[in-house]
Amino acid sequence: MSEEYDVIVVGSAFAGAVAAKTAAEKGLKVLLLERSTEPGEKIVSGGILTHDAFSEPGLEFIKEAPLERELKGVKWIMCNENGEAPLDLTFRSTDGSRVGYTIYCYDFCKWLTQLAVDAGAEFRNNTTVVDVIKKDGSVRGVVTEKGEKINSKVVIAADGGKSLIGIKAGVRRKLPPENVENCVVLDFTIPEREIRRLGLSDTFEVYWGTLTPADIGSYVWIFPYKESFHLGVGALVSSRKSPTIFMERFLHSNLWKDRFEDIVKFRSWMWNTVPLWSALDREEKMLEETYGNGVLIAGDAGGFLDSFTCAGFYGSMVSGMLAGETAAEAISKDDVSEQGLSIYEEKYKKRLIWRLMQRPWRRDVIAGIGGEKIIQLSSNISNYVIRAGFDQPKPSDLMLLFGGFLPILRYIGPFLNRKLPMLFNELMLIMGVAK
Ligand SMILES: Cc1cc2nc3c(=O)[nH]c(=O)nc-3n(C[C@H](O)[C@H](O)[C@H](O)COP(=O)(O)OP(=O)(O)OC[C@H]3O[C@@H](n4cnc5c(N)ncnc54)[C@H](O)[C@@H]3O)c2cc1C
Repeated sequence: MSEEYDVIVVGSAFAGAVAAKTAAEKGLKVLLLERSTEPGEKIVSGGILTHDAFSEPGLEFIKEAPLERELKGVKWIMCNENGEAPLDLTFRSTDGSRVGYTIYCYDFCKWLTQLAVDAGAEFRNNTTVVDVIKKDGSVRGVVTEKGEKINSKVVIAADGGKSLIGIKAGVRRKLPPENVENCVVLDFTIPEREIRRLGLSDTFEVYWGTLTPADIGSYVWIFPYKESFHLGVGALVSSRKSPTIFMERFLHSNLWKDRFEDIVKFRSWMWNTVPLWSALDREEKMLEETYGNGVLIAGDAGGFLDSFTCAGFYGSMVSGMLAGETAAEAISKDDVSEQGLSIYEEKYKKRLIWRLMQRPWRRDVIAGIGGEKIIQLSSNISNYVIRAGFDQPKPSDLMLLFGGFLPILRYIGPFLNRKLPMLFNELMLIMGVAK
C-alpha cells in the first residue's frame, strides 16, 4: 500500500510554506510539493510586505525573516510618454510608522520553507502536481507529472493565482481576463549611496499618467532593496497589450536616462501574472469557495489579497497559517468533509485579511463602479494634470476628465445614502482614530 500523508501542500511560497509549517507544528505528517528547484524561484521576484503582516497573531515569526528595506512613504510621479513629469507628490506616514518592508521572494520563501522543514514537513522540489486524486467525491491526494500518486487526508492548494489544483479539485474556476494582469519586472543592482541620493532609501515610486494608458490598469513602479531595485509594470490581460511596450517606453524616457541609466547594472528579469480585484465580489470572480471535501485553498489561489492594493504576501501567509490549523483540527475530529473544513472560513473571517478583502466601501466602489473605470478616471485626472502642467488643456481633455466621472456620478448618490456611516468609519480607520 502506498504511503499516506495527513496533509499535502501544493506550492511552497508564502501560503504553502506557512501552511506546511503550521500543520507540521501541530504534529501532522506533511508533504510540501514545489515545482521549481528553489522555493520562490518561479514567482514575482520581490515586493513590499505590508505592515499588516507584522501585527497578525501567529505570524510573529516573520520579524526574523530576511527583510530588505523599511519603507515609510510613496512618491507619485505624474508623467507623460516622453518622460516629462510636471508633478510629483510624496506621501509619508506622519507618525513615522512604516508602509512595510521590501523583500526578495527567493530569499523569503526559501527561509519560510526551511521553517516548514524544521517543523517536520517533508519538502520535495522539482515536483509539479498535475491533478488531484478523488474518491467518493472527496479529494484524497495528488498526481505528479511523473505519474506518481500520493495519498493524503487533506490537500492544501497554495499554487498561486491560476491555481490548477483549486480548479481540478472543483473548488474554484479560472479567473476572467479582466481580473488578471501580466507583469514584467526588471532587477538592477545599484550602490547604496545612490539609493540614498535618489531619495529611495525609505520611499518607493509610482509613475502614473499617459506613459501607461488607462486600459492596461497599471503603472510603472520602483521598489528599492538594500543595494538593488525593481522596475516593474503590468497590463491587464483584457487590454491585449504587453507590459513590455510600456517598460521599453519608460527605459527610453528621460525619467530613466537622467536618473538611473549610468549608475545601475541589470541583473535579471521576471514575467508573472497577478490576480486583480479578485478579493472582491468573489462569486462573480468565481472564487466563492475556499474549501471542499478534503481540500482547502490558500493565498492567491483563494483570492486572499488586499482588495485595494492587490498586495498578497500578507493574505497568503495568514490564509496559509489558517489552512494548516484547519487541517489539523479537522483531522483530529476525523472529519475532513466540506462541513468539517468549513471552520476555515470562520477563522479567516475573524482576521484583518477579511476586512482588507471585503472593506465595505472598497467593495461597493470598486465592485459597483468597476475597477477598470476607477483606473480610467484616475488616469484621466492625471492626464489632465499633465497637460495642464505643460500647455493649455484642450476641451477634449476636459470632456475626457468629466466623462470619467459619469459612471461615478450615476452611482454615488444611492451609494452615499447607504454607505456614508461606513465611509466615515473607514476614514477614521485610515486616520488611525478608530480600530
Ligand atoms: C509583479 C508582481 C508584483 C507584486 N508585488 C507585491 C507586493 O509588492 N506586495 C504584495 O503583498 N504582493 C505583491 N504581489 C502579489 C504576491 O506576489 C502574491 O500575492 C503572492 O506571491 C501569493 O503567494 P502564494 O503563496 O499564494 O502564491 P505564489 O507566490 O504564486 O506561489 C505559488 C507557488 O506554487 C508553486 N506551484 C504552482 N503550481 C504548482 C504545481 N502545479 N505543482 C507544484 N508547485 C506549484 C509555484 O512554483 C510557487 O512557488 C505581486 C505580484 C506580482 C505578479
